[in-house]
Amino acid sequence: RFSTLTAIEDPVTPPVEVKYTKLLINGQFVDAASGKTFPTLDPRTGEVIAHVAEGDSVDIDCAVKAARKAFDEGPWPKMTAYERSRILFKFADLIDEHNDELAALESWDNGKPFEQSAKEEVPLLSRTIRYYAGWADKIHGLIVPGDGAHHVQVLREPIGVAGQIIPWNFPLVMFAWKVGPALACGNTVVLKPAEQTPLTALYAAALLHEAGLPDGVLNVVSGFGPTAGSALAGHMEVDKIAFTGSTGAGKIIQELAAKSNLKSVTLELGGKSPFIVMDDANVDQAVELAHSALFHNQGQCCCAGSRTFVHERVYDEFVEKAKARALKRVVGDPFKQGVEQGPQIDEEQFSKILEYITSGIDSGATLVAGGGRAGNKGFYIQPTVFSDVKDEMTIAQEEIFGPVQTILKFKNLNEVIQRANASPYGLAAGVFTNNLNNANTLMRALRVGTVWINCYNLLDAAIPFGGYKMSGIGREKGMDSLNSYLQVKAVITPLENHAW
Ligand code: ADP
Repeated sequence: RFSTLTAIEDPVTPPVEVKYTKLLINGQFVDAASGKTFPTLDPRTGEVIAHVAEGDSVDIDCAVKAARKAFDEGPWPKMTAYERSRILFKFADLIDEHNDELAALESWDNGKPFEQSAKEEVPLLSRTIRYYAGWADKIHGLIVPGDGAHHVQVLREPIGVAGQIIPWNFPLVMFAWKVGPALACGNTVVLKPAEQTPLTALYAAALLHEAGLPDGVLNVVSGFGPTAGSALAGHMEVDKIAFTGSTGAGKIIQELAAKSNLKSVTLELGGKSPFIVMDDANVDQAVELAHSALFHNQGQCCCAGSRTFVHERVYDEFVEKAKARALKRVVGDPFKQGVEQGPQIDEEQFSKILEYITSGIDSGATLVAGGGRAGNKGFYIQPTVFSDVKDEMTIAQEEIFGPVQTILKFKNLNEVIQRANASPYGLAAGVFTNNLNNANTLMRALRVGTVWINCYNLLDAAIPFGGYKMSGIGREKGMDSLNSYLQVKAVITPLENHAW
């Protein structure tokens, strides 16, 4: 009942040094006004990697002032769109040049496999920045027809100072989704990385300055949610707040925005996404895809396929093979080659996941693989699979955010549609079938922001991402993200000459 373990007891030394641990405000790395720091920990051991400046409301205020000045007085929104675009392209080139350092820092701070950071996530960071660099000089307004003798223009202007709060599960990818569109549209930014993973945002921001970003345009304030994060969401001089994290914190952010200056809000929150395997599916392929849909990134994905619905005709075979696949999953030090799963982010998440596993057992689900911690140090958890899961069980309703697959049986299409939609979340869904009618029916019936058919976790820069229901407000990536960083201004002038 246990998967492969490699090098958990003897952690590999990460091939990178920590260069930046201070707040980045107005182009300078500075200590927090209070002088406080907090430790960021290595999830492989629980040991301190570095002490990082702990920003609070005072530092947020300084950063917002710097961003405000860089917006109101320039140069950023007053530079040509082409100049802004060139800085972003240069930034993307620098990311590529520093690919392995960024990847090592990301894996060290977060615990995800280095191969994943180096081959998928840092490349996705530069790809996304290039995508938005390409947009910078293609954002423009419209002339629209008026009902009388007037000339009507619709301008698209940057919204102002954007506050951005990002989580710890994909620190660099979240940085790209937030900073890319905000800067391309001509906004200035104050970004708060997650307290578990502050290191790579500081590094990336340093590269962006090396690429020529003017001072004050991007400020990074590391710190905690209820202090630094809340100060940003509730700040009167911030025009827009973008947040990715838990649904609970998302509600607080929206409340703070409403109580302060009604700043516009976009939220990317939790999920409990169904992955539906129809009876015509090739079971081996379905098992592999459902496995990666759930276990990718230690199960710490907001869009994880965390309710695996399997048609009764293929259910028994699926469960056997899902078990075998989980047992084969290579858990170990993220810096070892071939490792598929590293440690969870921190002790709090680790304990929460173990509690969910206990809850699954207590509620009568069948534990078919895993079920406990892996190794005896750090925050590693065995790849865990439950079968015979029922909709009403806590493990089928709440976001576990860990390597715990829950398999549910269904009989027909209408039933699975109804059950898949019976969730307060609506972030994503996976559909596995060769039947075009099933695929079309499910694709339209599922109330979610992304449907992956015979694939999962494809998150290209141009694909809009976001949730229905309590999974969020608005979309990130693609063209849709630009709208949330732009104001629309209508300008109407009379036409003296009736030649129109
Ligand atoms: P998770 O539960 O996955 O850690 P959170 O929603 O707590 O997710 O954290 C995501 C981000 O939101 C982090 O940067 C965190 O510091 C921030 N955050 C958490 N709580 C608040 C809050 N009350 N106000 C503002 N930001 C918050």
